[in-house]
Amino acid sequence: MKAYDKLYINGQWVEGSGREMADVDPYTGKILFTYKGADKSDIDAAYAAAKAAQKKWCKTTVAEKTDLFEKLLGVMREYAPAIEECLMEEGGSTAPKRGYEAATCAQMVRYFMQFPSRVEGKLQPSDAPGQINLVMRKPRGVITVITPWNVPCLLTLKSVLPAIACGNAVVLKPSSDAPASALLLAEIFDKAGVPAGLFNVVAGGGADIGDYLVGHPSSELVAFTGSTEIGKRIASIAGGRICDVSLELGGNNAMLILEDADIEAAADKALFGAYFHQGQICMGVNRIVAVGSAYQKFCDAFAAKVRALKAGDPKDPEVFIGPLINGAQVKKFEDAVKQTVAAGAKVLVEGSTDGNVISPWLLADVTRDMYSARNEVFGPVCSIMPASTEEEAIDIVNDTDYGLSNSVMSRDLFHAAEVAACLESGMVHINDQTIGEEFHVMFGGEKQSGLGRFNGNWVLEKFTTEQWISIVK
Ligand code: NAP
Repeated sequence: MKAYDKLYINGQWVEGSGREMADVDPYTGKILFTYKGADKSDIDAAYAAAKAAQKKWCKTTVAEKTDLFEKLLGVMREYAPAIEECLMEEGGSTAPKRGYEAATCAQMVRYFMQFPSRVEGKLQPSDAPGQINLVMRKPRGVITVITPWNVPCLLTLKSVLPAIACGNAVVLKPSSDAPASALLLAEIFDKAGVPAGLFNVVAGGGADIGDYLVGHPSSELVAFTGSTEIGKRIASIAGGRICDVSLELGGNNAMLILEDADIEAAADKALFGAYFHQGQICMGVNRIVAVGSAYQKFCDAFAAKVRALKAGDPKDPEVFIGPLINGAQVKKFEDAVKQTVAAGAKVLVEGSTDGNVISPWLLADVTRDMYSARNEVFGPVCSIMPASTEEEAIDIVNDTDYGLSNSVMSRDLFHAAEVAACLESGMVHINDQTIGEEFHVMFGGEKQSGLGRFNGNWVLEKFTTEQWISIVK
């Protein structure tokens, strides 16, 4: 992979003025490249460029915006192999994950290409004779985007594409564990001819520059995807200057298995939901709550499948579980498992650690007070919890501060929909696992999993504002 050692500001590749940082391959531990992160002066320059570019961009026609997206689609497709390489080297993504993410990047450009023509206003009647009321939908201005490392290209484009399509400019701060993914996207945007200043990347440490970035008066909206802990901080800083936020935060998602479920299908679905990208997905299956007789049957079927998962080098196409993103996450994961087992959880499958690679763990007899039931555990472990009745199972699923995504497994689809409606999460998938995304369908969490909705018209409305213009004869 190329060394992405410069920031991208105002259409130029510039050296950062902040501290020296390194991008590390989580599997080999090798430093891929070092770079200087952004400081306040780089952030000021990025916002100034974005503000100037946005003033021109918002005046371009629908056709001009769509033409640019068409060029972007071509370049995004051309770069699919480079995206995959970057996701593997920088993020430890295995073949199914990197293949899905690279293909999805182009699909997203194709979907958000329609947005310039979908920004619609309203004509409203008036109480005053002869007066006309226009409600115009306008871009916000400059949108700050802050992204995590786990699905870095997809999650960056999920905010950046609708933002730009609606007439905004963007200042992006990627995760320090995934700067190259963002700078690779900048290269793609640059090659597609995206005007200078419309998309800027200020890589740098969140603890160093995050507060300044979020508190910056030039930013009209902060679109944050990451942990609930940092999301709370961002909301409070942005709130201090009455700046709107969109927050996509953590999850503690559950698959609820009813007694009439197809157990084999539940085990297949859960295998993907719990261990895809080594369990580092916000919507991943953290908990499985099985009712009555479904519990033991599911434990037996699932354990056999989990034992067969191959962990190791993400280059190996047979490997499903690659490395965790860094040593700190490995330590956090091991502590979480240790605490849960010490509290009485039964180890159905025992994992082992080799560098940053952890082979899968599976815990059973987990109760709601145990660590892995209460917290988002970002790694290859799944906690199976028994419930005597359906009511108890619903109560267990809802007994968490999070509310991102859940699922219900049952052969009775109508009843499953009734159960789904009782679950306190923004998304519920029936006869599927908890990971799912379609860019035209609403996406978002309840409780401490987020604020606001993404995708489709929901993000279009979030990334624009309205203005009443009255005309009196
Ligand atoms: P994180 O630690 O919250 O970091 C997310 C981003 O915030 C990074 O770019 C980070 O920069 C930055 N940041 C850190 N401190 C900041 C501050 N004070 N001000 C502004 N920005 C700051 O999360 P992560 O570990 O990267 O990602 C995993 C988390 O994201 C999980 O909780 C997962 O559930 C959640 N997630 C949610 C969704 C969703 O759609 N709901 C999707 C994916 C992930 P540095 O890297 O430089 O610290």
